[in-house]
Amino acid sequence: MPCRVSGLLEQTVAHGAAGRADSEVNVDRRGPVNGSVRVRSGSMTLKKRGKFQYGDSQEDIRDELLRYGKKNKHAAHHFADAICKCGGKLFGLSLDDNEGAAVRTCVGCKTEHAIGDSDEFLEEAELEECACPCGGEAFEITIGVSLYEDSEDVRWLYLGCRCPKCGLTAVYGDWKNEFNGYKKLLKRV
Ligand SMILES: [Zn+2]
Ligand SMILES: [Zn+2]
Repeated sequence: MPCRVSGLLEQTVAHGAAGRADSEVNVDRRGPVNGSVRVRSGSMTLKKRGKFQYGDSQEDIRDELLRYGKKNKHAAHHFADAICKCGGKLFGLSLDDNEGAAVRTCVGCKTEHAIGDSDEFLEEAELEECACPCGGEAFEITIGVSLYEDSEDVRWLYLGCRCPKCGLTAVYGDWKNEFNGYKKLLKRV
């Protein structure tokens, strides 16, 4: 994880580990995956400061998923924003991008939800909790999917977050996610 800011994250661990079921397994925090990527800033609202992109609203996550998807050769075609059944839009996020599994936890009501088809892969997954380099651990979450040509079937999933504390907007995980029917998958964001 080349973009991890270790000083900040050590502090985060110190106050953040209490009460988490998996804290003894994973005390590290996962950072954005695209921090070291140099990019052209062509978007209207996404602003680049240092090596990161910063956005003003959750919609900016989509621009970041588009940008990242193009680099990955699997363009993101469709998107969905995570909203808890309580209406909450801020979540803690844990993921394992080797297994292709992510779980979001609503900051407001603590409801946990496995994103997309993650529930099928949780057994093997070693979830890492995500943290922004600023120390923030509550995110707006938007997923994007790339489809096979002339098909409604999914080939790749991108998971993007925006930290409302500092605005940092980044992809935190992406993986090959074969799924028949993207609408069904996006409903489970
Ligand atoms: Zn909730
Ligand atoms: Zn932040």
